[in-house]
Amino acid sequence: MCGIFGIYNHLEASNHVYLGLYALQHRGQESAGIVSSDQKRLYHYRQMGLVSEIFSRDILKRLPGNSAIGHVRYSTTGSSELKNAQPFMVDYARGMMAIAHNGNLTNASLIRSELESKGSIFQSSMDTEVIVHLIARSKQKTFLERVIEALRQTEGAYSLLFLTETEMVAARDPLGFRPLVLGSLKDSPVVASESCAFDLIGATFIREIEPGEILLINGNGIKSFKPFPRKQPHQCIFEFIYFARPDSFLFNHNVYEIRKSFGVQLSEESPVRADMVVPIPDSGFPATLGYAARSRLPLELGLIRNHYVGRTFIEPEQRIRHFGVKIKLNPVKELLSGKKVAIVDDSIVRATTSRKIVKMLRHAGAKEVHVRISSPPIIDPCYFGIDTPKKSELIASAHPIEVIRQFIHATSLNYLSLEGLKKCVRGEEENFCYACFTGEYPYRFTAEY
Ligand code: 5GP
Ligand code: MG
Repeated sequence: MCGIFGIYNHLEASNHVYLGLYALQHRGQESAGIVSSDQKRLYHYRQMGLVSEIFSRDILKRLPGNSAIGHVRYSTTGSSELKNAQPFMVDYARGMMAIAHNGNLTNASLIRSELESKGSIFQSSMDTEVIVHLIARSKQKTFLERVIEALRQTEGAYSLLFLTETEMVAARDPLGFRPLVLGSLKDSPVVASESCAFDLIGATFIREIEPGEILLINGNGIKSFKPFPRKQPHQCIFEFIYFARPDSFLFNHNVYEIRKSFGVQLSEESPVRADMVVPIPDSGFPATLGYAARSRLPLELGLIRNHYVGRTFIEPEQRIRHFGVKIKLNPVKELLSGKKVAIVDDSIVRATTSRKIVKMLRHAGAKEVHVRISSPPIIDPCYFGIDTPKKSELIASAHPIEVIRQFIHATSLNYLSLEGLKKCVRGEEENFCYACFTGEYPYRFTAEY
């Protein structure tokens, strides 16, 4: 996962990208970067860490000019190190260009070995870098044409921002896996992974960039192109379940409302007899509200979160993650003691979180712990940019629900059904990718990791 943000033709371009990245921090916490343009050349700064730690007033001053793009990274391909931080910038025969990418290409290794056999030298282990090479090698006349030629050869998930000395290009792959939205700050076009970034800088939301659409943004304004054959969109349903911020509007919905409706649907499918419903902070909140309201049960904040700890998955090592849950959450014993408790979370991946939480609640005196999950069981990995682990690490890939229930020591365990999930996006259900729940990928490819 990753977040991208760009602004064209604004006096304080890099300052706004900084703010935009701040609002998109939930999409990636490993590294961040900004590339700016003063019409003559590009300026670049990227670093490991959080947006707030990386950028200072002084560093932002070193990113002059009236256009800029930025990136926050959560590595799905390529290791977590500085050379893989984005935006990725190069100086080539036609000038300078920078790229910021959210998503995963499914034929990157293939293209890469082809290019390497012809003499190309890669600087990073990112799939994104192949796009840069394809653009640099293209014989097309304009930058836009070179981008289109490169993207015709790439397969997979991409929401992209490019910056050259004079132009910005935004692109979304034909299946539209990852979100990308267009807005404006007075007369300056802005593009972001999620609309929550617009709210922070006071920009107006215009519309979503469509699957397969490419926007050319330059001195002549914004021009839209649809150079690829039209395909059935496969927007990532997991953006709704977990990834996107609830205050964002994307894939034609407000994320909070849709997430809440998952909870309502879950309550209809799997009601519970309990004294209270407790959300698992923070990702479980909206679904829990829907679940509790529909179930007519009291909602209680039985788990208190330490807000100075980031998302549990940040640490790539299993050992650290085990510790993570305890650092982040603590039960309110007085509330839970002797009670029948229902807890709601958005998803189970490896089941390490839910196992620890159930244990924690039982320790705090809960008599029964009923677990409700506002998504179907995740049985297959994502190759389009969500950081779900290998199939063998996905607990639901090999174990029936009853075995998972025993593993996490829950009194009962229920997931939202796939039909129920689709019901919540009724009329648009064909436009989403459910591969992590079904193993039915939208097209054939050779898994590269
Ligand atoms: P588990 O303990 O089952 O491995 O992880 C489940 C928890 O991780 C849930 O609370 C869910 O909100 C969260 N989660 C699910 N998918 C992701 C992801 O892609 N990244 C991060 N950081 N957390 C996730
Ligand atoms: Mg969570």
